[in-house]
Amino acid sequence: MTNTEEAREKFGRRVQRCYGCFVAYYLKDMYLGEDATYYCEHCKDETMFHFEQFSQVLDLSKLPSMRPEGE
Ligand SMILES: [Zn+2]
Repeated sequence: MTNTEEAREKFGRRVQRCYGCFVAYYLKDMYLGEDATYYCEHCKDETMFHFEQFSQVLDLSKLPSMRPEGE
Protein backbone atom coordinates (compact mmCIF):
# COMPACT_ATOMS: atom_id res chain seq x y z
CA MET A 1 0.00 0.00 0.00
CA THR A 2 1.36 3.41 -0.92
CA ASN A 3 1.51 6.31 1.48
CA THR A 4 -1.22 8.06 -0.44
CA GLU A 5 -3.56 5.10 -0.24
CA GLU A 6 -2.81 4.68 3.42
CA ALA A 7 -3.52 8.35 4.03
CA ARG A 8 -6.83 7.99 2.22
CA GLU A 9 -7.72 4.94 4.28
CA LYS A 10 -7.01 6.73 7.52
CA PHE A 11 -8.77 9.87 6.39
CA GLY A 12 -11.82 7.86 5.38
CA ARG A 13 -12.03 6.27 8.81
CA ARG A 14 -12.27 9.60 10.57
CA VAL A 15 -15.65 10.45 11.99
CA GLN A 16 -17.20 13.74 11.02
CA ARG A 17 -20.50 15.31 11.89
CA CYS A 18 -22.75 16.20 8.98
CA TYR A 19 -23.33 19.95 8.74
CA GLY A 20 -26.91 19.35 7.74
CA CYS A 21 -28.29 16.84 10.26
CA PHE A 22 -25.41 16.71 12.80
CA VAL A 23 -25.25 12.94 12.67
CA ALA A 24 -21.71 11.53 12.76
CA TYR A 25 -20.53 9.50 9.78
CA TYR A 26 -17.27 8.10 8.50
CA LEU A 27 -15.69 10.50 6.05
CA LYS A 28 -15.58 7.79 3.40
CA ASP A 29 -19.37 7.94 3.30
CA MET A 30 -19.55 11.71 3.17
CA TYR A 31 -19.62 14.50 0.62
CA LEU A 32 -17.47 17.61 0.62
CA GLY A 33 -19.23 20.93 0.20
CA GLU A 34 -17.90 24.47 0.01
CA ASP A 35 -15.68 25.79 2.82
CA ALA A 36 -14.60 22.26 3.76
CA THR A 37 -17.99 21.35 5.12
CA TYR A 38 -19.04 17.72 5.09
CA TYR A 39 -22.49 16.36 4.45
CA CYS A 40 -24.00 12.91 4.58
CA GLU A 41 -25.72 11.29 1.63
CA HIS A 42 -29.08 12.53 2.88
CA CYS A 43 -28.04 16.18 3.09
CA LYS A 44 -25.69 16.51 0.12
CA ASP A 45 -26.61 18.31 -3.05
CA GLU A 46 -25.33 17.91 -6.59
CA THR A 47 -22.54 20.47 -6.18
CA MET A 48 -20.76 18.31 -3.60
CA PHE A 49 -18.16 15.65 -4.15
CA HIS A 50 -18.15 12.20 -2.64
CA PHE A 51 -15.12 11.11 -0.62
CA GLU A 52 -14.02 8.80 -3.44
CA GLN A 53 -13.77 11.82 -5.72
CA PHE A 54 -12.31 14.52 -3.51
CA SER A 55 -9.87 12.21 -1.75
CA GLN A 56 -8.21 11.52 -5.08
CA VAL A 57 -8.01 15.19 -6.02
CA LEU A 58 -6.75 16.52 -2.72
CA ASP A 59 -3.26 15.76 -1.52
CA LEU A 60 -4.26 14.35 1.85
CA SER A 61 -0.69 14.24 3.07
CA LYS A 62 -0.67 18.05 2.92
CA LEU A 63 -3.65 18.39 5.21
CA PRO A 64 -2.58 19.58 8.65
CA SER A 65 -4.36 16.73 10.39
CA MET A 66 -2.50 14.12 8.38
CA ARG A 67 0.97 15.31 9.32
CA PRO A 68 2.84 13.22 11.86
CA GLU A 69 3.05 14.69 15.34
CA GLY A 70 5.82 17.21 15.89
CA GLU A 71 6.49 18.01 12.28
ZN1 LIG B 1 -26.87 14.85 7.07
